[in-house]
Amino acid sequence: MRIVVLTGGIGGARFLMGVRAHARRNGAEVTAVVNVGDDVRMHGLRICPDLDSVMYTLGGAADPERGWGRVGETWAIKEELTRYGAEPTWFGLGDKDIATHLVRTTMLNAGYPLSAVTAALCDRWQPGITMLPASDDRLETHVVADVEGERKAIHFQEWWVRHRGEVPTHRFVFVGAETAKPAAGVLEAISAADVVLVAPSNPVVSIAPILAVQALKEAVQNGPAPVVGVSPIIGGAPVRGMADRCLATLGAEVSAAGVAGLYGARREGGLLDGWLVDTADEATEVPGVTTRAVPLWMTDEDATAAMVAHALELAEVAR
Ligand code: GDP
Ligand code: CA
Repeated sequence: MRIVVLTGGIGGARFLMGVRAHARRNGAEVTAVVNVGDDVRMHGLRICPDLDSVMYTLGGAADPERGWGRVGETWAIKEELTRYGAEPTWFGLGDKDIATHLVRTTMLNAGYPLSAVTAALCDRWQPGITMLPASDDRLETHVVADVEGERKAIHFQEWWVRHRGEVPTHRFVFVGAETAKPAAGVLEAISAADVVLVAPSNPVVSIAPILAVQALKEAVQNGPAPVVGVSPIIGGAPVRGMADRCLATLGAEVSAAGVAGLYGARREGGLLDGWLVDTADEATEVPGVTTRAVPLWMTDEDATAAMVAHALELAEVAR
């Protein structure tokens, strides 16, 4: 069996731990198509937060408390940069993490596409799945917001990390999406998939930028595999993170039904055949989508693998 997962960073990485556990028990192959909208250049380095969250988590090297970056991290370079007054100072770059960005940036500068660079980095981390960036092309999420009384478009990282999403926010723009193509291997993975899972990632800033790559979205919509999404919202609130703020910006309800409404039913030109919600949201109904309620708290790998098994069962009946 071939499983493709559309995913963001931290939430998606935890979900992928369960997908990998399930796949190992059942001899399945897993490909993660990872958001690149958060990617940014800082201090001359290309940083890919979601790819790194997935790679470090599956590689057993993520910091479990912080949720991002490396466990056992040190911050000497960040402190030195601050002493130089080198902007931006609000972005956390750990020493170990910087080594990843150096290797990545060197390879990108030498002309390798991000997908090849990611594969090279994964040689070290052995995530046990195939990791693909959604696109090898530039695709960046920018946020139109009022900052110090002035309306402007800022990079997603500046909105998220510097302003904590706490500025009047008007919309999200996926810069480069019109021309960005799916990364090498993405369309092949989708057309060979037996099922496509949408991780319980932030729908607005993790999954939407993946689907903003038009050819990728169409491949999922028109592909042979059933598409099942897992709700990141339980009982009207995101489990962690700022999905509520993002959904509010779009005028979408912060609920399992609200997120499914954004994705839409595949039979009506949207994305989903099935939608997995938490037992707290049992009453969720989404026109044209088969829903099922099971516990969706990713408390540990076994609980998450059980969620994945339910998602795959739902895929069988939903289409
Ligand atoms: P990011 O890119 O690092 O922000 O991470 P993602 O976009 O992949 O995931 C963030 C989302 O994961 C948030 O919207 C959370 O609501 C969701 N999430 C985190 N933990 C859980 C969990 O245990 N269960 C469910 N259903 N969703 C979760
Ligand atoms: Ca992210």
